[in-house]
Amino acid sequence: MPDLETDVLVAGAGPAGLLLAAELALAGVRTTVVERNPEKPPYCRGFNLNSRSLDLLARRGLAEGLVAEGHRVPHAPATGMPGPLLLDGAATDHPFSLGIPQTRVEEVLEARARELGADLLPGHELKSFTQDEDGVTVKIDNGRTIRARYLVGCDGGRSTVRKQAGIGFPGVDARWFALLGDVECELPYGVSAGPDGRTLFVIPRPGYVRIVVREDDPPADKDTPVTLGRLQSQVDSVLGRHVELRAPRWLTRFGDAARLAERYREGRVLLAGDAAHIHPPAGAIGVNVALDDAFNLGWKLAATVRGTAPDGLLDSYHTERHAAGEHILANTRAQVALEEAGPEPLADLMRRVAAHPGGNRALAEIITGLDARYEPGDHPWLGRLAPDIPLRGPETHLAALLHPGRPVLLDLTDDHHFAAWSPGIDVVAAQSTSDVRALLLRPDGHVAWLTTGSDGTGLAEAIHRWVGDVPVPATA
Ligand SMILES: Cc1cc2nc3c(=O)[nH]c(=O)nc-3n(C[C@H](O)[C@H](O)[C@H](O)COP(=O)(O)OP(=O)(O)OC[C@H]3O[C@@H](n4cnc5c(N)ncnc54)[C@H](O)[C@@H]3O)c2cc1C
Repeated sequence: MPDLETDVLVAGAGPAGLLLAAELALAGVRTTVVERNPEKPPYCRGFNLNSRSLDLLARRGLAEGLVAEGHRVPHAPATGMPGPLLLDGAATDHPFSLGIPQTRVEEVLEARARELGADLLPGHELKSFTQDEDGVTVKIDNGRTIRARYLVGCDGGRSTVRKQAGIGFPGVDARWFALLGDVECELPYGVSAGPDGRTLFVIPRPGYVRIVVREDDPPADKDTPVTLGRLQSQVDSVLGRHVELRAPRWLTRFGDAARLAERYREGRVLLAGDAAHIHPPAGAIGVNVALDDAFNLGWKLAATVRGTAPDGLLDSYHTERHAAGEHILANTRAQVALEEAGPEPLADLMRRVAAHPGGNRALAEIITGLDARYEPGDHPWLGRLAPDIPLRGPETHLAALLHPGRPVLLDLTDDHHFAAWSPGIDVVAAQSTSDVRALLLRPDGHVAWLTTGSDGTGLAEAIHRWVGDVPVPATA
């Protein structure tokens, strides 16, 4: 007999695991999260949410509070670009990046997951698991077992779940390593160059600075702890002089390895976030793509657990997010390549592309994942996140319709032409100045179907593909 039974066991309470738990709990699915750390680490890795994340979080009413706390930057975080990639005019409701600690985002997500009823167990490490036709039996560190219908590995880049599921992690090894130190010192913010042209970065942080410097001769074992002395000698070597580093808060090492899980699903086991992909540290994308994965998976897994999911719904998670993972790896590697390429000729080409408003915007959308399109189609909204258009109806904006996390058929026709689909699906009648007359919104806000007339061609198929076995009204 297992010590605990649940519907979905999530391993890891980082951004991916916490948002996934909140999404599953919102859908009424019994969810348990095991997190090996008994307490949150005393440091913070990421410091931003990008436009795409804010758009997604806004579909659950979670963006506004974070935006009020953070500070806005009008361009996309990017590495190696000749200038800022402006978000003005980009396909987003949040044309800015938000400076906010990852730890704060995690706090907000954890509070939401708990409030919605997810069970969080810090200080519990997943050790091993076996899966069968009906579920997964997981052993945790104190010898106890948990039985779940599904297991999701949100357990970071070295994912135990991924390894034990036998999912390959092909890609490229790191070619270089950098040292990171959260310290106090008298160096100016920005790039500091030494006499031989080598550089280091000094990034302002609340009450301290983050120094990032490439490491000469990294140790054979990359897990060898970084000491203040090691960072100090590397900084002094690059600058050609001694600048004292004090009060270390966090010292670590990272590289530019890029790897993508072969499959995001193996039977009843799934992967999300860093467990599914690691990439070079460019474009400050890791938290953001972790949230994106979780948002895509949550409603699909919830429908599967509840038994309402159409055939293939859960597998569409791999199809959509593995492709997104390929883009992230390509984008981040390209940014590092650009940074390393020096001024000519690649940088010259990029300068010209980025100087063109359309090119600049396209780069910003690609690097932030705003270009995510899960379905090709004639209309530019099809397959993309529906913009948060103003409405005259029960809600004043489209994003608010998605707060309950359910699919919505938004009927913008004058005669409420699509009303007959209710109660099989939530039909919301409203008015808008948009040329679109009706849209089928997936719970993640992506457009599964739309019409610019009152023609319902393809609607029944789209509902059956994304929502399930809903009766087709006689008028359809
Ligand atoms: C120095 C640095 C700076 C970064 N800056 C940014 C940035 O500015 N912007 C950005 O978007 N991203 C940034 N990132 C990347 C970002 O931190 C990660 O991509 C993000 O945290 C991934 O989220 P996740 O939920 O997938 O995994 P994680 O946040 O790694 O969470 C995984 C969790 O699983 C737990 N765990 C592991 N194994 C087990 C197990 N067996 N059982 C139970 N629990 C387990 C871990 O303790 C951890 O809490 C940065 C990363 C680093 C290292």
